[in-house]
Amino acid sequence: MQGQVRRRVYLAICLLGLLGCAWQIARPGGQQLERTVSFPLLALFLLGAGALLVWWPSRVRWVEVGGFVVLAVVWLTTMALQLAAAPDDAAAWASLFPGVFANLCLLVVLAHLWFDVRWAVVASLAGPAIALVVGTVRFLPVEPGMRNYALDLAGALGYVVVLAMLAFLMARSKEALALSRAEAARLRELAHTDVLTGLPNRRSLIDALHTAVQDRRAGGSTAVVLFDLDHFKAVNDRYGHDVGDLVLQEVADVVLSSLRPDAVFGRWGGEEFLVVVPRADLEAGVAVAERLRRDIAARGFPGGLAMTASFGVSVLSDADSVDAVLLRADRLLYVAKEAGRDLVVTRLPRP
Ligand code: GH3
Ligand code: MG
Ligand code: MG
Repeated sequence: MQGQVRRRVYLAICLLGLLGCAWQIARPGGQQLERTVSFPLLALFLLGAGALLVWWPSRVRWVEVGGFVVLAVVWLTTMALQLAAAPDDAAAWASLFPGVFANLCLLVVLAHLWFDVRWAVVASLAGPAIALVVGTVRFLPVEPGMRNYALDLAGALGYVVVLAMLAFLMARSKEALALSRAEAARLRELAHTDVLTGLPNRRSLIDALHTAVQDRRAGGSTAVVLFDLDHFKAVNDRYGHDVGDLVLQEVADVVLSSLRPDAVFGRWGGEEFLVVVPRADLEAGVAVAERLRRDIAARGFPGGLAMTASFGVSVLSDADSVDAVLLRADRLLYVAKEAGRDLVVTRLPRP
């Protein structure tokens, strides 16, 4: 849950809780101890938590951890006092319902809401364990022929333990789901990223082009810039594959630093790269390509190498499919190579 939403929900709970406490304290016929001790204490805590949430919003976590401790202490102490004050076993047993059991169940839920799984198990089992000890001390020894309330208490607390176990299972499956979501996101990222340059890969670029085709239907214009390093094979042959890899990484850096943030730039394959420039007509696409061409040519690459690249620039027309615009950009790039390289080409020669 987002911090802001959580804070608002807690504030609403504080308000409702305060109204509830006021009503419990004022109404006639309530249990004496609850009216004089536990509800006033709870009201005090809710006031403090509410004030903290209003004036110190970043301390939501304090309210959660402090809230759990305060509630557990107040509720278990109230239980002990009620048991001690009851005139006989039957009255003591009756004083546990529904308040004490409802509170113990609430502690289980709160523990799993506020703590990680391990601490939640400890916190949610501590309540029933303490309640069992306190109750057993109150109800034992059992006089012969009398009802054994200690056993009844153990049975009733067994329900709370079952609730804690089910909450644990839910928390574990939620944790497993979060982990598999994170893993799925990581795999998705890997499937769309080029290993050498860290740029979006061909699959990712095709997705970007499909998005551009949809945007165009909404009235936008998208430029597609395809470029290929000139005589790159010679770099590998002369300086080795490792230097070739460094050059490809450096080209990625040069281009990235020169593009506007909404452009999608990726490695199309080998020493070919593609840029999808949204909201750009042919003129804007050519301006991008010319800038990249100059930046690459001006850059000193590893070993003092100079590199150039050839560019094909096209714009998604109304009738274009992704395949059609890619084919056109590829042909334009081929024309740039034929025309001598280190060029930006936007027109195919007349047949
Ligand atoms: P042109 O100007 O016509 O494009 O010539 P070129 O030498 O750049 O083109 P060619 O297609 O002949 O060679 C491309 C080379 O790119 C061949 C291939 O070994 C190399 N290459 C492709 N991917 C990688 C890579 O990831 N790392 C390295 N070091 N080289 C790669
Ligand atoms: Mg090449
Ligand atoms: Mg090539």
